[in-house]
Amino acid sequence: MDRSEKFGDLNQRIQSCRRCSRLVEYREKIALEKVRRFSDQEYWGKPLPGFGDQNARLLIIGLAPAAHGGNRTGRMFTGDSSGDWLIKALYQFGYSNHPNSESLDDGLVLNDVYITAVGRCAPPANKLLRTEIANCSEYLLEELELIAGARVILTLGKVAFDSYLRMNHKNAGKVFKFSHGARHNLENVTLVASYHPSRQNTQTGRLTWVMWTRVFEMVRILLDKE
Ligand code: SF4
Repeated sequence: MDRSEKFGDLNQRIQSCRRCSRLVEYREKIALEKVRRFSDQEYWGKPLPGFGDQNARLLIIGLAPAAHGGNRTGRMFTGDSSGDWLIKALYQFGYSNHPNSESLDDGLVLNDVYITAVGRCAPPANKLLRTEIANCSEYLLEELELIAGARVILTLGKVAFDSYLRMNHKNAGKVFKFSHGARHNLENVTLVASYHPSRQNTQTGRLTWVMWTRVFEMVRILLDKE
């Protein structure tokens, strides 16, 4: 199999995964019940593969799809406020062809960035159980292997930061602590930590637009040095 076939095979396995019974039940229930403002839409209701440039030097790891965002639209960071923040910043720093992420057919093209997540199914209250993170980790590990050119790993939120370290750099995980804007040099990659651009963080002012774009400025400088 060449690399694009491996991606195709991986994404097929992700989309048909039913390993976490709690998440399968929740994602499908949400897709049936919907929410009033999207009641005329067909929800995706399945796990989400990553998306973006398979030759990316920047890999972004989020937490999991939102119940009425990715779980509705079929693409991570699409159709919700976290996606609005992420794609607007990517556009501002030259990684996407437009500033919005609304639907699978919106024409969004990412350049030099690939977006993925710790969990592929929307979890209740946006919280994954440890067992669910463990169940889903093999998919992230395969993506990391396929995106061998990644030089910067940007983790959104503490769960993504800790999960990435636990999976890939067990010893470093004991030393490095999560904090917004922190940067750590690891073997072959730089790990950058940011608060997740969830509504909970952006609406409370825990994460401001200035704090958010500083992270992307740092990433841009790191990649420009490559
Ligand atoms: S979270 Fe991951 S492992 Fe669990 S059901 Fe969804 S795709 Fe499968």
